[in-house]
Amino acid sequence: MDPVKILLYLWQLPQNLLGLGVMWAMSPGVEETFRGCRVLRSEKMQGGISLGRYIVIGKQFLNPVTERHEWGHTLQSRLLGPFYLPVVGIPSLLWAALWKPGRKWDYYAFYTERWADHLAGIRRQVSSGGRGTPPRP
Ligand SMILES: [Zn+2]
Repeated sequence: MDPVKILLYLWQLPQNLLGLGVMWAMSPGVEETFRGCRVLRSEKMQGGISLGRYIVIGKQFLNPVTERHEWGHTLQSRLLGPFYLPVVGIPSLLWAALWKPGRKWDYYAFYTERWADHLAGIRRQVSSGGRGTPPRP
């Protein structure tokens, strides 16, 4: 096995172990690989989650932008290693749990989400209706 891949896996060990658990909990589903990640498309999953080299996406959220956005979180995980869960993982889970459509702030305006979009090269059109407006500076 590639020693760089092993080191990268160990650097992200907490989220990799959690990711394996989520993969197991959300199985069965359709599995594929995307840029070195294991991606599971599951009917049980609501939304998407990225933990180390594991991405689990709900079947109803199946689109290329969501997959790339989750890949952005993968890049955050590679950058932050053991700091991923406190800096990105936990805040973004709380944000996803608290946020409701129609709120004042756009879902993707939160720093964890905006950063993932940025790393993945996603530029979103923020509409004035629907999802709400981005926060004021
Ligand atoms: Zn996200």
